[in-house]
Amino acid sequence: MARTIFITGANRGLGLEFTRQFLQAGDMVFASCRYPDKAIALQALHHEYTDRLKVLALDMLDEQSLQEWPKTFSTPIDILLLNAGVSGERGVTIGNVDLTNMRTIFNTNSFAPVCLADALLANVRNSNEKLIVAITSKMGSIEDNHSGRAHAYRGSKAALNAMMFALSIDVKPFEVKVLLLHPGWVRTDMGGESGLIDAQTSVAGM
Ligand code: NAP
Repeated sequence: MARTIFITGANRGLGLEFTRQFLQAGDMVFASCRYPDKAIALQALHHEYTDRLKVLALDMLDEQSLQEWPKTFSTPIDILLLNAGVSGERGVTIGNVDLTNMRTIFNTNSFAPVCLADALLANVRNSNEKLIVAITSKMGSIEDNHSGRAHAYRGSKAALNAMMFALSIDVKPFEVKVLLLHPGWVRTDMGGESGLIDAQTSVAGM
């Protein structure tokens, strides 16, 4: 049976590839991004899948939209895919720690996905699959960190993991499942050209 998927950061990278693969699988996709008018690749997909792809504007840093917009959206969501993320300033290390950079990264990668999951929980509860997926990173692992740097990005994914784990316990009584996925080191704008796999392989694997 076709499922309804809601994706954040769907205009490029892994989010765009998730959108493409869910559409190919026959699902209905609500693809959110900051600037739908500029999302050329998403618009092209929309021409191909007019009936099953809806493109929405949602900025994960816009606090008011995050809280108010979900109140206007009543469609059941089988899979809520919290994908949007930023890596922030490159090469941040001792002597170069920047509070503004940290706040932006935590707001985007940690706080916004948890707030959106909370705001859209009723939609997920009302669906068949009842699944919340957050794209995390191995860089959020404390045990696996042997190279330092990227303090805020690492911290933001560790915080995301902790909060999503807590959420998974809270939503258990409603039969909602929470899944954290590491996509691998992927050749996207964030992963760069040295990434080990392409977006198609990463998303197919996830
Ligand atoms: P990407 O190519 O840089 O794409 C990031 C996406 O997030 C873009 O669509 C971007 O939209 C969106 N985004 C950023 N800030 C946003 C905001 N405030 N509101 C809405 N959307 C926003 O990165 P990616 O590689 O696809 O990464 C996707 C996820 O995988 C991220 O959570 C990332 O941390 C995680 N991840 C990636 C890798 C990797 O190797 N690539 C490894 C581990 C984890 P704009 O175009 O508007 O900026």
